[in-house]
Amino acid sequence: MNQPILLSTPHMGAQELEFVKEAFETNWVAPVGPNIDAFEQEFSQVVGSKYSAALSSGTAALHLALKLVGVKSGDEVFCSTFTFIASASPITYLGAKPVFIDSDRLSWNMDPNLLADALAKRDKQGKLPKAVLLVHLYGQSADLEPILAICDRYSIPVIEDAAEALGATYKNTSPGTWGRAGIFSFNGNKIITTSGGGMLVSDDLNLIDKAKFLATQARDPQPHYEHTEIGFNYRLSNISAGIGRGQLLVLKERVAARRKNFEIYREALGDLPGIQFMPEPNYGVSTRWLSCLTFDPQIAGIDREQVRLQLLAKQIETRPVWKPMHLQPVFADCECINNGVAEDLFQKGLCLPSGSNLSDADLARVISEIKQVYKFK
Ligand SMILES: *Cc1c(COP(=O)(O)O)cnc(C)c1O
Repeated sequence: MNQPILLSTPHMGAQELEFVKEAFETNWVAPVGPNIDAFEQEFSQVVGSKYSAALSSGTAALHLALKLVGVKSGDEVFCSTFTFIASASPITYLGAKPVFIDSDRLSWNMDPNLLADALAKRDKQGKLPKAVLLVHLYGQSADLEPILAICDRYSIPVIEDAAEALGATYKNTSPGTWGRAGIFSFNGNKIITTSGGGMLVSDDLNLIDKAKFLATQARDPQPHYEHTEIGFNYRLSNISAGIGRGQLLVLKERVAARRKNFEIYREALGDLPGIQFMPEPNYGVSTRWLSCLTFDPQIAGIDREQVRLQLLAKQIETRPVWKPMHLQPVFADCECINNGVAEDLFQKGLCLPSGSNLSDADLARVISEIKQVYKFK
């Protein structure tokens, strides 16, 4: 029986264990310590942000970012609909409500024109959202310049969810560093992992200092633990930060490996009828966190569920692209500025095994099984 091929698994390099060992040897087995400070600094250098706060997850980072730009109970936040739920959940943690914005076909991310129309309309009604939460999906940067220009016009802060886009570029700089704040994730399935963790980045020192304060139970600087605000326990451990430092050293290789997966898939499958691979606009470079493609059943004669199920039977894990947030039962009462793109992508889209540790033989097996689905349709 063949070994299972999974969607995206952790991929350790050579240095992680050294940083972890050092943490053990110096007894910095705590949510404070030298690896955390170093990880934050090294991360800032890699992405080109002034300041970073290492946190327990990307979700925690989004929660703090939204709180720190002033989102409060009863507010609305515009948010990409085509995303993983962790982009939208933190909006509800604050008692605010998401309003979902659909994607364009070029980037699969928030459509700048749709956003511009929606904000113009809301401005007339005197009902502007408190923030815009912009997602860079599957490692592909959204079209940041027009989106930031539109939001600037109304003085609305942009928070970037770059959880899947560490190592990507937009006009030669990192997505996640353009808005008021950006977040990254080190969950086990992401480009690099700390076995769970996240980073909040910003050029605003005050925002990052406040995030660290809130992440440490909002402890005022008094020996007796004085509290004037409610905080959270959101700090990353010094052990995890050690893993992160090692992973940062191989980030470039990890991105290159994922991009290579994508190219191998596209080379082998791109000419099959009804297949389209996720586009890459020429303003930047995607991480290809997951290799995504769509099957148009009218042309292909098969649909993505057939492909998914047949590959599953062969121990190959694939996954439908994210179900848009406005179709999620939990957000049934939320407004969506809908152009049908995310819904269409959801009907047709599939993510293939994409780990940076896949072998050529793994890739060949995935390709051969997809060709089999076509052969016996
Ligand atoms: C993974 C992910 C998150 C959440 O990150 P965690 O570290 O798992 O909390 C948020 N947004 C997107 C788009 C993600 O893929």
